[in-house]
Amino acid sequence: MKFSRTLIPTLKETPADAEIVSHQLMLRAGLIRKLASGIYNWLPLGYRVLRKVENIVRQEMDSAGALEILMPAVQPAELWQSSGRWDHYGKELLRFADRHDNAYCLAPTHEEVVTDIAKREIRSYRDMPLNLYQIQTKFRDEIRPRFGIMRAREFLMKDAYSFDVDDQAAAASYQVMHQAYTRIFERLGLRFSVVEADSGAIGGSFSHEFMVLADTGEDAIVSCGGCGYAANLEKAEAVASHAGAPEPGPATAEVATPGAHTVEEVAEFLGVAPHQIAKTLIYLADGQPVAAMVRGDRELNEIKLKNQLGAAELQLAPPAVIQEVTGGPLGFSGPLGLEVPVWVDHELLQAPALVVGANKADHHLTGLHLQRDVPQARPADLRVIAPDDACPRCGGELEFARGIEVGHIFRLGTKYSTAMGAEYLDAEGQSHPIVMGCYGIGVSRIVAAAIEQGHDDNGIIFPLPIAPYSVTILPLGHQGPVMEKALELYRQLGQKGVDVLIDDRDLRPGVKFKDADLVGIPLRLVVGNKGLKQGQVELKHRADGRVEMLPLEQAADSLVEMVNQGGGQTL
Ligand code: ATP
Ligand code: MG
Repeated sequence: MKFSRTLIPTLKETPADAEIVSHQLMLRAGLIRKLASGIYNWLPLGYRVLRKVENIVRQEMDSAGALEILMPAVQPAELWQSSGRWDHYGKELLRFADRHDNAYCLAPTHEEVVTDIAKREIRSYRDMPLNLYQIQTKFRDEIRPRFGIMRAREFLMKDAYSFDVDDQAAAASYQVMHQAYTRIFERLGLRFSVVEADSGAIGGSFSHEFMVLADTGEDAIVSCGGCGYAANLEKAEAVASHAGAPEPGPATAEVATPGAHTVEEVAEFLGVAPHQIAKTLIYLADGQPVAAMVRGDRELNEIKLKNQLGAAELQLAPPAVIQEVTGGPLGFSGPLGLEVPVWVDHELLQAPALVVGANKADHHLTGLHLQRDVPQARPADLRVIAPDDACPRCGGELEFARGIEVGHIFRLGTKYSTAMGAEYLDAEGQSHPIVMGCYGIGVSRIVAAAIEQGHDDNGIIFPLPIAPYSVTILPLGHQGPVMEKALELYRQLGQKGVDVLIDDRDLRPGVKFKDADLVGIPLRLVVGNKGLKQGQVELKHRADGRVEMLPLEQAADSLVEMVNQGGGQTL
């Protein structure tokens, strides 16, 4: 492609409303433009990157045996009612009516439609295993669309769904996807980590997230260098100490703590450390009140609590419920005398004497011994793992890092097939619900994630496999032998199947160099008079700044080899 003939509207200034570097660079390099909040146009250069990501995803899904289909973005409400999600999905689901007043939604995901296909088309155990996937536009009315296409409202996803006869077969299908995803992210040329993720009601180690590692990532992940354990912070297990229960001290005593509300204030008022205090939080789990306790210096992990309770919905109770359940106002709850279930983080069982709320305004209890004073308390892992925690598998040291979720694989079990009646007949003619799995990749988010991981002060550093062009040629001059040789190289590379961009614009070299760095093309070939006199052209590697002189005659062949070795693609 000739630069003069394409549309690469680069910007000198960093757009003010772009917070993170990938968003800034995607705008500056002319990859995308905003149409509305969370809705973007992909311009030619950006669309090339997106298509290259898509190609790798498609090739690896195909070779894993998945079958590509295309499902509609507009879906009838009845389907969502049959799974129960019309009422539960919330405001991320964009709903609307057609001219006949029939209700529809713009699909945020496709479990309903794909289960409907399975229900109609899968008859017997012989039709499985089956894996159907698509690469398709999703719409989620995100509460806070941000960071450009990283968290957009309209975005491109690859979503796959597996169908199996039983849990064992479904586990095998899950493994096939796990391996395919690993190959996909390796081929994309990204540094990534596979972490255990929350698997909700299904449990077990059947949910993994694929994270592109970047300091700016929204997700926190922990990993152990010793044994390879890696998990999303949301899911990472906090191990209980095995020390026996401590001896109880004197009985509890009520103390007035006027004006002390936060853990820190109470700690200071009573002259104790925050870890000697226990917070008691009152929740509504599917409408039923429960109490949950964690140490004052810890954070309660609502996902763990929700899974422990097997609840579909969990929310903090409003003040009126707290008053009713505890007899005291918000901020002074404690476990003594409660008639609702009391769940305690297992770490609290190690405390000989705790400070807790007295269920009475401006009062606390000291000297609480859980085993003695709250014998009905149920211990569980309820807190967010902290830097002083050891690896739950091997006891080694944990490392904390940040990542961007680009893929998620998940066992669905029979949740949708049961709700929607998708069944098959076994060899004996007995009917069973189909066992499903679902597997998503944020195709458009990968482009932003790659830039978060690969950039410097001058612009984007694309990995070769997804760069919009593998090679850019910069002639230092607009006509004469320089331009002729440059065009000749351009044609040679094109014929050999290399994606190449030539900057044929009549501009100062400085401007061309700046743009080449900004758009992040991995291999830059400079053709100038000085080099040509010695029969040479200059090659610069965008990633590490390495410069080498190539003999003009061999330049094209050398580049073809580099591109092939680096996994470069041709569109
Ligand atoms: P998140 O926790 O980031 O909201 P999710 O759990 O809602 O993600 P899934 O439903 O598993 O995501 O979707 C599959 C993939 O689609 C995600 O791993 C992510 O890469 C991508 N994705 C999800 N939401 C968005 C979005 N708003 N914009 C761009 N990509 C997204
Ligand atoms: Mg989401």
